[in-house]
Amino acid sequence: MRLVLIFLFSFISLWSLESQEMWWKRGTTFLTYLEKNNIPQSLYYNLNEDDQDVVHMIFAGTYYHELRDEKQTLLHTLIPISEEMQISIYNNNGTYEFNVIPIDYELVRESVTFKLQSSILYDLKKITGNSKLAIELASVFNDRVDFRQDLRKDDEISIIYERKVRLGKTWGTPNIKAAVVEVNKRKKYAIFNPEDEGYYDENAKPLKGMFLKHPIQYRRISSRFTHRRLHPILKIYRPHYGVDYVARYGTPIKSVADGRVVMAGRKGGYGRTVIVQHKNGWRSLYAHMSGYGRGIKRGRKIKQGKIVGFLGNSGLSTGAHLHFSMYKNHRPFNPARIKSVKKGGLRGKAKVTYLASAKVLQAELDKIMGVSPDKVVRIASLTWAKEHITTN
Ligand SMILES: [Zn+2]
Repeated sequence: MRLVLIFLFSFISLWSLESQEMWWKRGTTFLTYLEKNNIPQSLYYNLNEDDQDVVHMIFAGTYYHELRDEKQTLLHTLIPISEEMQISIYNNNGTYEFNVIPIDYELVRESVTFKLQSSILYDLKKITGNSKLAIELASVFNDRVDFRQDLRKDDEISIIYERKVRLGKTWGTPNIKAAVVEVNKRKKYAIFNPEDEGYYDENAKPLKGMFLKHPIQYRRISSRFTHRRLHPILKIYRPHYGVDYVARYGTPIKSVADGRVVMAGRKGGYGRTVIVQHKNGWRSLYAHMSGYGRGIKRGRKIKQGKIVGFLGNSGLSTGAHLHFSMYKNHRPFNPARIKSVKKGGLRGKAKVTYLASAKVLQAELDKIMGVSPDKVVRIASLTWAKEHITTN
């Protein structure tokens, strides 16, 4: 880890001198990119299945960086595949090395407070220079506040959020930590709960959860997540990085969160498979399907609950079932451990923990309301990559 970070650090200093920001054009594939740069195609074919997968996550329209020498030979390229991870192709004395590495960014915590003038989108873009914050805010308040109907001119709004900064520019989607919106002189709060990545109000009642508890209405779970399991067909010990749901053939399968389809097609033993990329480095995978949902194509943005496909028996499967996996930054994550938002609200220990941190954020929101309006106020800066280097 230390080596990688030091390497990244030295690279970034080179970077600012000569790197170029490029735009991944429609129709460019990883293989044509290699060809164009005189990199042997074996670089791709020698990758393991996971890394080959990652390559399919490059989108048209992605901004990436290249460093070339005076003869235009590619020295290094960094291609983002999500907000958190990127592909690195590094020219090590003529031999190209492929790696998937974390994206180096600065995380800043900011607040903004303003009185509504024209629309949330227009006002927030004018103040922050970024339109994504307004989209996030609308998504957080989802059913609670209808931003077009409920809000009046001069209603007050305050937001505390974290924003990523990469190479001097805002990077990715801001993460709202807490927000308050005034509707008919009543304050409506939304506070992020890191325990389940959902939003709740000041009484621990849910606003919106990031994940659905299950992607399907199932009859039973036939196999759970485990690092060691005897494979029923191959008769060898293999980890099972997912949950197998049994249901009737053709039962619709839903995306567990908002995101973007990064793969829709046949994938070896998984048969017909859809992979969705979500916020914060999460991915979900749905396999053995009999067919795809309408409009499910690579690159498509989809909402939570959208049908990605239908239960089937395609690929290496012993009977009709859904194989469902979750990944956090490309590591398999046990879906049972992802706590989805509680419908009726938090209870017991979860409620106590949430309320303790929510009170602090609520007080912070009340304090900033009306103070230095129409300005972004920086609360804190976290430069985690550099911190790792100095502490080693
Ligand atoms: Zn499975």
